[in-house]
Amino acid sequence: MNTFEINDLDLYYGDTQALKSIELVIPRNQVTAFIGPSGCGKSTLLRTLNRMNDLIAGVKISGEVKMDGADIYADVDVRKLRMRCGMVFQKANPFPMSIYENVAYGQKAQGLKDKFQLDSIVEEALRKAALWEEVKDRLHSHAFGLSGGQQQRLCIARTIAMRPDVILMDEPTSALDPIATARIEELMEDLRRDFTVVIVTHSMAQARRIADKTAFFLMGELVEHGDTEQIFNAPQDKRTHGYITGDFG
Ligand code: ADP
Repeated sequence: MNTFEINDLDLYYGDTQALKSIELVIPRNQVTAFIGPSGCGKSTLLRTLNRMNDLIAGVKISGEVKMDGADIYADVDVRKLRMRCGMVFQKANPFPMSIYENVAYGQKAQGLKDKFQLDSIVEEALRKAALWEEVKDRLHSHAFGLSGGQQQRLCIARTIAMRPDVILMDEPTSALDPIATARIEELMEDLRRDFTVVIVTHSMAQARRIADKTAFFLMGELVEHGDTEQIFNAPQDKRTHGYITGDFG
């Protein structure tokens, strides 16, 4: 079963075409990585999946993006769509409040007041983000006291607490050291059990380690996609071959 089906998707920023006739399916409960040189459209495509590009002036989109069969550009409530597709960014961006309040924030904003329920949602989200053991004794400390890697896992927990179906990640480890990166990569293994994960990464090694499916982009075009192993071991397109063997990028 697929979470997303993208058909003939074009996207323009003003007169500049950033995505060209994209055709892609993104399977449920798998990790899909978008790779390719800087500026090839990876983040743009990621942002079309929860309509974050709508917020940018001058964007024109045509084609179809279906989530669970419904065209998200036609008949979907954008607020609900963004709740179903949580997003984690390159730079950890915790809110200026306690660890607990960061994770509880979205549910509280939705009107949940019951302390028992909030406590259990916070614990479950922190456990799923592999942060619980490190913070359970200081839930009411300020989030800014956490290390960079912990802050990024906190942002993942904050996303998980909204019980999304999909987690979109835009280079989530590029600001982190190798140890913090490894923690997040380990976490991906568990996340796919509960969520569909789509990750933009500039690291081919990372895509290889964590992704079930890989899609390779070049200048707004989706050159090739498939099982990660196939993309790296037996690419069909010579441009993919050139990129993964380090000819350019
Ligand atoms: P990647 O994530 O692969 O680095 P992006 O999706 O960020 O690529 O960018 C794809 C193309 O769209 C680039 O040419 C970039 O300059 C352009 N672009 C990205 N965001 C904007 C924007 N907000 N306004 C105008 N052009 C943009």
